[in-house]
Amino acid sequence: MAKKMKTKTKPTKITSGAKKQTTATKGAAPAKKRSTKSQPKGAAGKESLDARRQRAERIVAELDRLYPDAECALTHKNALELLVATILSAQCTDERVNKVTPALFKRYSSAKAFAEADVAELEAMIQSTGFFRNKAKSIIGAGRVITDRFGGDVPDNMDDLLTLPGVARKTANVILGTWFGKNVGVVVDTHIGRLAHRLGLSWRSRDTKDAVKIELDLMEVLPQDAWTRAGHGLIHHGRQVCGARKPDCGACTLAPLCPSAHTFE
Ligand code: SF4
Repeated sequence: MAKKMKTKTKPTKITSGAKKQTTATKGAAPAKKRSTKSQPKGAAGKESLDARRQRAERIVAELDRLYPDAECALTHKNALELLVATILSAQCTDERVNKVTPALFKRYSSAKAFAEADVAELEAMIQSTGFFRNKAKSIIGAGRVITDRFGGDVPDNMDDLLTLPGVARKTANVILGTWFGKNVGVVVDTHIGRLAHRLGLSWRSRDTKDAVKIELDLMEVLPQDAWTRAGHGLIHHGRQVCGARKPDCGACTLAPLCPSAHTFE
């Protein structure tokens, strides 16, 4: 079993993958050098990058205060379980995944066990998470690569993780940040995409689903040591206060830092 470590890590240069993006778990941002000259566009574009970074730091501080124990909501005991749970979480709620995984992890307790799984049996066990055929294929494929190429241990670096079937930057960032304690990139899920836009922390993305550019923007404005922590905080805030349909700006302590505050009323 891989050991959980909390270490600071130099970010991996994001080099490719945008053209290969095929599912919710696939995606990569183009290479960009961190620069202080980037200028956001539109209404939020009046803010300089330095000012945006300062505001982002205050947002992170408030998220830390609001959600000091924010963690990944997917139940897991090791990197392999987190990997499988994250693959299952595509287009599915964490609650639903957490209902499926206890029996799943009891039945399959190693990468080799997943590699040798009967596809029909695995599909039946994960059916309720949706897209179960693709997910079963990815999980069995990942089990095979982890067994054959990595000695049964989930790799702890971006390049190797991206060689696993069903794993792209979002999943890899979850594994690296949550299990290995490495801030290599920023997870962009539906909540983080939405909040990055509302909070004016992404300015190059077309919309809240443009995960490639949202990640790039967040990496440019959030302090690197907060990438994983802030991601968890944003997800909690998206669930508890800044919902997709009805953000509760009146109760939101981020309102003084949010360019979208009260624009929904
Ligand atoms: S002020 Fe409103 S839009 Fe901004 S983060 Fe808070 S709830 Fe969301």
